[in-house]
This record gives sequence, C-alpha cells and structure tokens, in this order.
Amino acid sequence: MNTAPARGSRRFADVNLLIGVFSALLIGGLWFYMITKHEGEYRETVEAAFRQNSNLAVAYEEHIVRTLKGFDSALLFVRHEYRRAGRALDIARYVEDGVVDSQLFSILSVVDERGDVVLSSRAFEPTNYADREFFRVHQRGGGDVLYINRPVLGRVSGTWQVPMSRRISKADGSFGGVVVLSVDPGYFARFYQKADIGTKGLVTLVGIDGIARVRRVGSELSFDIDMTGSSLLRQRAKLEHGQFLSLGGFDDVRRLLSYRTLREYPLIVAVGAAEQEVLRESLRNRNRDYGMALLVSLVIVAFAVMLKVTLARQRRAREALANSEARFRGAFEQAAIGMAHTSMDRRFLQVNQRFCDMLGYTREELMGKAATDFTHPEDRGSATHDRQRLLAGEADSLSAEKRYVRKDGSLLWVNRTVSLVRDAEGQPLYFLRIVEDITERKRLENELREMATTDMLTGMPNRRAFIAWLEEEHARIRRFPEQQAAVLMLDVDDFKRVNDTHGHAVGDTVLRHVAELIRRGIREVDACGRLGGEEFAVLLTGATPAAAAEFAERLRRGIAASPASNGGLEIGVTVSIGVSALSREDDGADAALLRADRALYRAKESGRNRVETDTGRMA
Ligand code: GH3
Ligand code: MG
Ligand code: MG
Repeated sequence: MNTAPARGSRRFADVNLLIGVFSALLIGGLWFYMITKHEGEYRETVEAAFRQNSNLAVAYEEHIVRTLKGFDSALLFVRHEYRRAGRALDIARYVEDGVVDSQLFSILSVVDERGDVVLSSRAFEPTNYADREFFRVHQRGGGDVLYINRPVLGRVSGTWQVPMSRRISKADGSFGGVVVLSVDPGYFARFYQKADIGTKGLVTLVGIDGIARVRRVGSELSFDIDMTGSSLLRQRAKLEHGQFLSLGGFDDVRRLLSYRTLREYPLIVAVGAAEQEVLRESLRNRNRDYGMALLVSLVIVAFAVMLKVTLARQRRAREALANSEARFRGAFEQAAIGMAHTSMDRRFLQVNQRFCDMLGYTREELMGKAATDFTHPEDRGSATHDRQRLLAGEADSLSAEKRYVRKDGSLLWVNRTVSLVRDAEGQPLYFLRIVEDITERKRLENELREMATTDMLTGMPNRRAFIAWLEEEHARIRRFPEQQAAVLMLDVDDFKRVNDTHGHAVGDTVLRHVAELIRRGIREVDACGRLGGEEFAVLLTGATPAAAAEFAERLRRGIAASPASNGGLEIGVTVSIGVSALSREDDGADAALLRADRALYRAKESGRNRVETDTGRMA
C-alpha cells in the first residue's frame, strides 16, 4: 500500500531506527574509546610494574651474589686455615680480629668427618651434625661448591638459620668434614626493606630445589616453604629469567612477578608487586571513567527515548489532524449544501461538488476565479459590505439571500452564510461560505406575490397593486413639488347590456380586450390597474391635467373605434373617463381617485362615452 499514512509511518520507522542506530553508535563509540584507553593504561601500568620488578630483581640478585660471595670467602678462608693449622685453629680470634666478618653470620664451625663440631666461632657444647642435610650432601660427594641448606630451626640458637657449607677434603681426596656457617635468613630479605614493594609486595629467595629460603610479604617474613608446585617454579623450568602474573597460590594475592635464576648459585630471586596495588590508581581512574561513561550512556538513552516519545506524540497528533482533515474533507465534499472557501481577494480556494452543481460550472472552471464574477451585479455591493464587517470582527457570520448567475445565464437564488476562518493568532485565513439553493422558494414567492397583485381575468395589476403605486406616486409628488401626475378612472358604458346580450363569457372577453387597449395606450413609466368589475384606472407620471385630458380623449376614441371580436361577432363598447391631478395638498392618494370618480360620474351623467376633468384641485 502506498497511501500517505503508510508512507508517513514508514518514514517514522526510519527516523526511529536512525535515532536507535545513532544512539547505539554514540554509546558504542564512547565505550570503545573508554575500554581501549583503559586497556592501554592497564598494559602500560603492568609493563611499568614488570620493568620496575625486573630492575629490583637484578639488584636483588647482585645483592645476594655479593652476600653469598662474602659468606663463601669466609668459609674458604677458614677451610684453608683449618687445613693448614688443624684443630689448633682459633676461629673466635679471627672473628675478634675482624679477619672474618661475624656480622654476616651467627656462627661458623668446622665439623669433622663423623659430624662432630670440632671448632667454632663461639663456645660450644659437643654437637653432632651428621644427620644434617648439608653434612650428608658433602659426605656423599658432589663438587667443591657452596651448599646453601634449606632453613632450619637452630639447635643451639633456637632461631631460623640457613646453614651454608663447603666440603673439607683430606689430602687423598676423601671426605674430611665440612666448614659451615649459619645465616639469619631474614638477612636475605632485609635488602628489600629499602625498596617499596607495597604492603602485599613479595620478595623471595628460592632454591631450585623448590624450598624458599626466605619469603617476605610486606614486612612479614617466613622461612623454609615448599614451593615445588608453585607457578614460579613452573615458569622457571621454562625460562631462567622472566616475568608473569602469579595467581597467588599461597595467599590468594595476584602478583606481577619478576624472577631471575642466579648464575653461580642454585637459587632463584623473585620480586612481585600485588596487582591490586599496582593497578589501584588506574583502577580508580577506570571506575571513575566507566561511571562517567555509564552516566553519559544513560543520558543518551534517556535523550533517545525522549526524542522517540516526542516524535511518536507528534506523529499521533499529525495523524489525528490528518484524520480530522479527512473527516472534514469528507463532510465538505459530501455535504448536501454548497460550500466554498475564498481567499482574501475573493478567489475560490476550494469548492465542493454541490457548489459546482448549483452553479453549473466544473471545479476547474471555478478554482482561482473571483467569486464576484459569478455574483449577480446587483448583489456585489452587499457581498463586499458583508466581507468588510467580518474582517472588522463585527460579526462571526453573516447570512443573506443573494443571486448568482449560472453558467447557462439563469439566476440562482441562494441563502448564503459567510464566515471568516482565522488561525490560532486570529489572522484571517479564508472565507467559508455555505450556500443553500432557494431558487424554487423564490419562484413560489414571486408567484404568490404576483397572484396577490394581479387581476386574474385581465392580467392587469389589481386594485390593491394600483393603489400602492398611486400612494408611491403621491409620496413622490409631495417630496418633489415640481413633479406632477394625473389619474384616470374608466368605466365601460352599459356593460350590463353586453353581459345580458352576449353572455357573461363574452363580457369577460370584452373586458380583456378593453384592458389590452388601455395597456397598449400607456407609456412604460405609466401604470394601470383593474379596480373591479368593468372599472379601470391609469396613473400618468409627470402629466399635466391638460395632457392627461388629452391622453384620456385619445384613449376613449381608440376604445370606441376598436370593437372586440368574438367568434366573428364584433362587439363595440365605449368608456367614460374621469381625470384628476394628484395634488401634494391631498392627505392621501385616494383623494385624487375620488375626484376622478366624481368626474367620471359627471361623464356618465352627461351622456357617457366622454371625458370629464376634475377641476376641484386645479391651480
Ligand atoms: P353604466 O353605463 O351606467 O356604467 O351602465 P352599466 O350597465 O355598465 O352599469 P352597472 O354598474 O349597472 O353594471 C355593471 C355590470 O358589469 C354589472 C355586472 O354584471 C357586470 N360585471 C361586473 N364584473 C363583471 C365581470 O367580471 N365579467 C362580466 N362579464 N360582467 C361583469
Ligand atoms: Mg360600473
Ligand atoms: Mg359601466
């Protein structure tokens, strides 16, 4: 279907879609930007944290290596001296003399091949270390390397210690015991008190045997932890140095971990910053930005919804308007009454079918034409006057009976109601005229009027109509003293005899004949009438009494010389005429008529078929 409403609702759907797509794009774009931005920030933050951790790990490694070298050189020195001096060696003295730096370790001892402590930096009870791991490792053989034991709870000190040892070989290469020192494992982590690794940051020194010598989280230290199954060890198995996100198998803290495997010792250093702490700032930024983006998204959605609702409301209003227009159009078109809209300059803007039918023009012939072109010339003035009153706001609508001229030239009588349609601001828009055909009524009215004023037998004006004229003429004479007029009264002589001789019907024919002679005899400006029976009257406008008498004489002779013919029979009649002038001194018109009647009486008295002039009122 391709009707206007269908097109309208499709356009509406398009606009709705457009709003939806536009809003979605806006929101999508916003979120894409935010997410991309924060992903970048996250990556950068993580990279920076890893970089920092790596640097720390390198520094840590160097520190550990230097420290271990120090321990090792103390062990090597004591072993060398022990080989040379045997049990006579006084380690305590070395310590006192500062030859061996005792600040680094708590105790340094020499153990013989049976595990018994034979020399020590401190005074000691007889002790056997044969069951200790470091002892057994060296006893089993292996190269001449520094052995770093897992942390043990010291039998003498009661504190955690990490024993480090070197094998003593006899001259023949056989096992001759070990030289061992014990270190507070906390020392390995102390370095990191300087480095800010946060409250959940991790520093650890793990043997490749999987045992952490020390593990420090924030300020908490722990020792001798089995990390064989940890992600650190798994990562290390793949790559000697590296970094990864540890999921926090031990304490449920995710960390960005960098680790390094020491080149000269079987140890791994690892430094980790808690992801939460690293990302705290950028997470806060992200949450703030996402919050803003959410807010903006909501605003966009709200705006789009509002726009859609507003558009829908507008569309409904438009549809309602279109419907009411369609209804109006239907009513306008199908009305049984003529309707037309005309512009301010009187041109037809719209006409309905009935209006066209009334005037006999097609719509095309009427549209754009001036309404005055179709109005009867005599009614144009009143139409203009009505329009001016409407424009002046003197009336809402005005009705009048007026005439149009149809296409075929005939008259169209209408009852026309015209009103002015204004817009909301009161500015005139157009004239609405409603037109009802009253031609038939007018015809009947005319017929009735004619019947009331016409004598049926002769077709002449009847007595009443004649008296009315006479009154009018009398009034005119009174208004304009220089004007004059005369009235004639005629009576057929011996008419009774015509009736008696030829019958009533022939009498009627004679009456019609006389009436015709009178009508023919007068001028257009004059008037005549049948006053009753065989009596007639004539009003001569502008005639002096003399001229009137002259005219009366001519008429009398004419009638006498023109007999009526009826079925081959000629019936001649004569008339007697009384003449009187209208006078402005009379109170009414009947005075002149009365005088004419008196003159007529005299004419009858004097023998009939003659004219008598009233002289009573003559100047
Ligand atoms: P006079 O010369 O004195 O006027 O004599 P007259 O016979 O004409 O006078 P009168 O007034 O006595 O008679 C008038 C007659 O006219 C009487 C009446 O029958 C007749 N009449 C009146 N009206 C009509 C009419 O309409 N038709 C016919 N045929 N006769 C009419
Ligand atoms: Mg008479
Ligand atoms: Mg008569």
